[in-house]
Amino acid sequence: MHLPKFDYERLTSAEEAGRLLGRYGGDARLVAGGTDLFPRMKYGLLRPRVILDMKGLSVKSPEVNGDGNLRLGAMTSLAGLARDPLVREKAPLLAEAALGVGSVQVRERATLGGNICLETRCLYYNQSHTFQFTQACFKRGGDLCYLVPGGKKCLAVFCADTVPALISLGASIGIGGPGGVRRILLEKFYTGDAVQPLAISPTELVTEVIIPARPRIGGEAFAKFSVRGGVEFAAVTAAVALRMESDGATCSAAVITVGAVSPAPRRARKAEEALQGKRLSPELFGESARIAAGEISPLPHHGFSAPYLRECLEVQIRRALEAVAKRVRS
Ligand SMILES: Cc1cc2nc3c(=O)[nH]c(=O)nc-3n(C[C@H](O)[C@H](O)[C@H](O)COP(=O)(O)OP(=O)(O)OC[C@H]3O[C@@H](n4cnc5c(N)ncnc54)[C@H](O)[C@@H]3O)c2cc1C
Repeated sequence: MHLPKFDYERLTSAEEAGRLLGRYGGDARLVAGGTDLFPRMKYGLLRPRVILDMKGLSVKSPEVNGDGNLRLGAMTSLAGLARDPLVREKAPLLAEAALGVGSVQVRERATLGGNICLETRCLYYNQSHTFQFTQACFKRGGDLCYLVPGGKKCLAVFCADTVPALISLGASIGIGGPGGVRRILLEKFYTGDAVQPLAISPTELVTEVIIPARPRIGGEAFAKFSVRGGVEFAAVTAAVALRMESDGATCSAAVITVGAVSPAPRRARKAEEALQGKRLSPELFGESARIAAGEISPLPHHGFSAPYLRECLEVQIRRALEAVAKRVRS
């Protein structure tokens, strides 16, 4: 499989990125690690006229600013995140999630910004269509769905592993563009539309990630289920962050974010509420996980049926909650 022809520009600064994105508009595509973009180009899913390579941009080291927030550059590699002592201390949930992405080689090359800007995926879309399919599906600009014949819209799912972790940590992102830099809560960055899953224009780029200081008493855990372990996109992921009362045993607030179940990451809000104000116990974890599996209807994807994924979701959330209970800082 070959890459289609394209023009290439190596960026030297975020300002230059903004200028060139403005000049080329939708004809250009940013590339960071290329671990998602180039496979899609090889499959013929994308044919940008110009590639703007961000690998020449300086990579900011993770830092904690005056108000205790952790700031990460979008170009930080996932391997770098997973081994960075500051990230492991201030946001171990993110380090854990980053370590679950792909293989060592993928993590060394892949970036945080690229993971956040990952496209939605579908077994029928992430394929070379030369032989298999004659008619374009919704995601390829057509008007049919191969996953659900007769379906009215695209049902590709969002599978990036670091994103549920970042949402559970309350992260926001900086987005640079012609109008300057705007900051939005990461949770609001995902539209829920599988065809246009990201709230970003072709002339903008994600520049940084800001994670609020960790609560003094609390704990976090990440769970990922995939058939072949790491070197595979998730069937389902769950990222749990609990804030605890001063007794270290009662949950005062919970955030549970689930990935790979729909075109955007989903919060399990009823399951979060079920934990609030209660003492942690195996029964409570089971109840909360059951509620989550009741409130979220996973889309079937990559050969997994919806009932199977619902069961996986319940198991992964229960496991994540059990793991948090063992890690609570007080
Ligand atoms: C074998 C294999 C296994 C994988 N397994 C997993 C997995 O388990 N979990 C997982 O989450 N992912 C997985 N991936 C997907 C991919 O490797 C990661 O999501 C990775 O983090 C993408 O980052 P990148 O820097 O390589 O992105 P790129 O491929 O460079 O870019 C991805 C997309 O984001 C855009 N983009 C990149 N950076 C920015 C930015 N700063 N601002 C705006 N847009 C930007 C690009 O234009 C492109 O559309 C896997 C990939 C492979 C090849």
